[in-house]
Amino acid sequence: MNAHTTLHGRHGSPAIEASGLVKRFKSGRAFVEVLKGVSFDARHGDLTMVMGPSGSGKSTLIAALSGLLKPEEGRVDALDVDDLWKLSSSRIDKFRLANCGFIFQGFNLFPSLTALQQVETVLKYQGLSKSQARKQATLSLEEVGLGHRLNQRPSALSGGEKQRVAIARALAKNPKILFADEPTSALDGENGQVVIRLLRRAATEHGAAVICVTHDPRLEAWADRVIHIEDGVIIDDQRRIPNPDAVLASH
Ligand code: ADP
Ligand code: MG
Repeated sequence: MNAHTTLHGRHGSPAIEASGLVKRFKSGRAFVEVLKGVSFDARHGDLTMVMGPSGSGKSTLIAALSGLLKPEEGRVDALDVDDLWKLSSSRIDKFRLANCGFIFQGFNLFPSLTALQQVETVLKYQGLSKSQARKQATLSLEEVGLGHRLNQRPSALSGGEKQRVAIARALAKNPKILFADEPTSALDGENGQVVIRLLRRAATEHGAAVICVTHDPRLEAWADRVIHIEDGVIIDDQRRIPNPDAVLASH
C-alpha cells in the first residue's frame, strides 16, 4: 500500500460537522445574510454534493467549512479539531495545509511552473524532501493520466488537463477532506466526466470526505449524498447510490 491508498478514518465516519453557520456580508449600509444558520456534515468515503443556483452561498459555505472565511455564528468541528474557528489563524492555516485539498473552477495553477512543479511545490511545503516530492508528484500525475505531460506549463495544457493537474496537486498530499468548487464548470462533457470520476475515486479509494459544490445537476449521478442549498438555507439532504460509470453528456 503506498501513500496514495492510505485510508483516512473509516468509510462512513464523520470528517466534518458544522452547525448553525451564519455568514453576513456588508452591502452598502445593510448586511446581507448569505448563510442563514446552515448545519452540515460530511463523511469519509462519501462524495457529498452540494447543489444550488449561482449566488445561493455554496462558495461561502466551503470557505466557512475550510477555515478560509470566519462565519459570524456557528461552529465547525473537523477531524480531530473541536471548533476550528476557535484556533488562531496560523493553526487554522496549518490544519488546512495538513488535511485539506482544494479544486476550483479556475484551476488556480501557477503560469510559470510545469505540471510536475505545481504538485511538487505543495509537497515541499508539507516538509517532503526534494526527491520524495518529485516521486510522489509523479505518481499523483500518473494517477490522473498525465504521466506524459509532466514538463508542460499551463499554457500548453487543455482545460481538462489543467484541472487534472489541480486534482493531482490536491490529491498528492492525500487530503482527508477534499473541497471542490464547481470543478467541472469550465470543462466540456468529456473532460468534466474525467474530473468527476477522479473525485469519485478520491472518496472510494482514498477514503477522503469529498465535498463538491456545483450548480450542475448532472453531477448528481456520482454522489453518495446530495444536499440542496437555496438562498443560504439547506432545503434538502438525501443519500443515494452512486453510479461511478455514469455518462456526462456534452452540453
Ligand atoms: P455561490 O457560490 O452559490 O454562487 P456565493 O457563496 O459565492 O454563492 O455567494 C453568495 C452570495 O453572497 C452572493 O449574493 C454574493 O454576491 C454574496 N457574496 C459573496 N462573497 C461576498 C463578499 N466578499 N462580499 C459581499 N458579498 C459577497
Ligand atoms: Mg460559487
